[in-house]
Amino acid sequence: MSFARALRCRALRSSPEHPINTHYVPAILPNTYSISMTNRPTVRSFTSASSVLFKQSNLAVVGGGAAGFYTAARILAKTTEVNIDIYEKLPTPYGLVRYGVAPDHPEVKNCMGKFDEVAADPRVRLLANVSVGNINGSPVVHGRVSLDLLRKNYDAVVLAYGASRDRKLGIPGEDGQKDRVGVVSAQRFVAWYNGDPGAQDLNVDLESYDRVVIVGHGNVALDCARILLTDPDVLATTDITSSALRVLRKSRIRHVEMVGRRGPLQVAFTTKELREMTKIPDLRIICDSDLVAKQCTSKEGSKYLETSRPLKRMMDLLLKHAVSDLHPAEESAQKTFTLRFLMSPLEMLFEQPKGDDLVAPQVMRFGVNRLEGSPESARAVATGEIAEIPCAMALRSIGYASTPLEGAPFDFKRHIVPNIAGRVVDDKNELVQGLYVAGWLKRGPVGVIATTMQDAYRTADAIVMDLASGNIGQENGTSRSIIDRALSDAGVDKFCVTNRDWKRLENYEFDAGRKLGKPREKVTNVEKMLDIIRNKIH
Ligand code: FAD
Ligand code: NAP
Repeated sequence: MSFARALRCRALRSSPEHPINTHYVPAILPNTYSISMTNRPTVRSFTSASSVLFKQSNLAVVGGGAAGFYTAARILAKTTEVNIDIYEKLPTPYGLVRYGVAPDHPEVKNCMGKFDEVAADPRVRLLANVSVGNINGSPVVHGRVSLDLLRKNYDAVVLAYGASRDRKLGIPGEDGQKDRVGVVSAQRFVAWYNGDPGAQDLNVDLESYDRVVIVGHGNVALDCARILLTDPDVLATTDITSSALRVLRKSRIRHVEMVGRRGPLQVAFTTKELREMTKIPDLRIICDSDLVAKQCTSKEGSKYLETSRPLKRMMDLLLKHAVSDLHPAEESAQKTFTLRFLMSPLEMLFEQPKGDDLVAPQVMRFGVNRLEGSPESARAVATGEIAEIPCAMALRSIGYASTPLEGAPFDFKRHIVPNIAGRVVDDKNELVQGLYVAGWLKRGPVGVIATTMQDAYRTADAIVMDLASGNIGQENGTSRSIIDRALSDAGVDKFCVTNRDWKRLENYEFDAGRKLGKPREKVTNVEKMLDIIRNKIH
């Protein structure tokens, strides 16, 4: 079914219950209301949200990840008189829930069930494989619309396009040289094993040496370490891609060193994820236990731990499971996971000092630090001492970053869209009417799905409030038919993947997974996705 027809059918199906743009109807607690047959919102003086009237509003959400879907879910729950179009650059929705969350964390992905319900709501349309604005690194086979077009045609636009790149270390050798890859982005490594079409060309070297270095002490770093050290037979029952699994099966990696610039009390990962490392069979956890004990028992450290029970539990777990060192013979016989503290990356080297044979393709050089300041805000200060770790691959896992979108304000220091409680503001701190932001783009690339949900709900509440007070809306009203004409003029028809298309693709993945004894086998190539959707592949 063509895009325009699919959209028409959807509109027709929804019309009896949700008349589109023909009159105003009550949406929240209809104590008092009147019905007008015009298309323009009437400005009324409302005393409270319990007596608000809505016209039929059309909203656009940019980004089909957790933030976009939770924002839509909340708005749908609070008002009936709204249509929501969710634009997603990939043919597949759900963002990091699909392409970030680790394959061995299937329970975390249960939120997809909620998102499925949202996508199936007759007031919602998924417009996947359509990017808003120019985006780097996305597959070429997609439609594109400008933010300007959305702002002209919808009553409000919610930016929820996440953080699609990562932060760099800014050290010499990071970008590699000749045939050496340098420092690999953990963001891309995660996207690679999770089947993101944009990361399938990643150069993953797990064979030329037995050690990987990961810079950063966050949960993404721990995810990478766990995937590298887990038995591939265990991963084979997850939704990790078969192509990643093939590479992991050939991996020689037995040692992962996760390096942080500060100390044990400043790690950013969480206890549950550290505990998972302790459960990997035949894996020894190594760290400087003396340093951990010293920091935990120092006057300031013990006071700090009294204020944070989760951190205290984590330090206890570390002290219980970690050994300070292994005898070289022991180490060569075991898989190891080493947590190194107080080291900042300085340089990626591709040659050993004169006279030494190059045993690994590359060596990461670090400067050793000491800490200054109280535990909650300790700063790393260089001591001048140097340490080196040879490795097959070095991953940087020091956080994700959002990028600006043409036509929207952007805070280049914090890498977010500036906002007040989800309402976008410009560089003079003035509200940009009809523009909202949610998720990692709103508050920066931190927080689990539950945090993203809470935050999306706050943005949704602001939108509902603004709709109710008549603060947003186009002067001449909006309608789906006008929107669809604008989309058609923008050439989106050829590319748009609807929810029905996505479900066909997903069923294909489920079938392929069933044959392999796993929940799904993700399709990792956009052209193939589109062929499946168009029924060219069965
Ligand atoms: P995203 O999920 O990134 O969604 C943004 C969406 O916008 C994407 O689908 C993207 O394709 C789309 N998009 C981008 N640009 C455009 C554009 N120009 N036009 C249209 N669409 C666009 N949390 C947990 O609770 N448990 C976990 O186990 C967990 N694991 C994680 C593992 C990793 C590796 C990472 C990075 C995060 C993890 N999180 C986890 C955190 C969780 O994933 C985030 O809180 C949440 O996904 C953020 O949602 P978001 O919608 O802001 O961003
Ligand atoms: P993060 O939690 O912010 O951790 C980033 C790490 O990088 C910190 O240890 C930080 O150290 C370090 N770092 C930053 N800049 C550095 C530099 N220039 N040099 C050296 N180290 C540097 O980020 P993340 O791991 O990407 O995770 C993002 C979010 O997703 C987090 O909220 C996380 O909890 C969530 N997530 C959750 C799960 C899960 O629930 N299982 C899994 C993955 C991700 P400093 O503290 O010294 O800055």
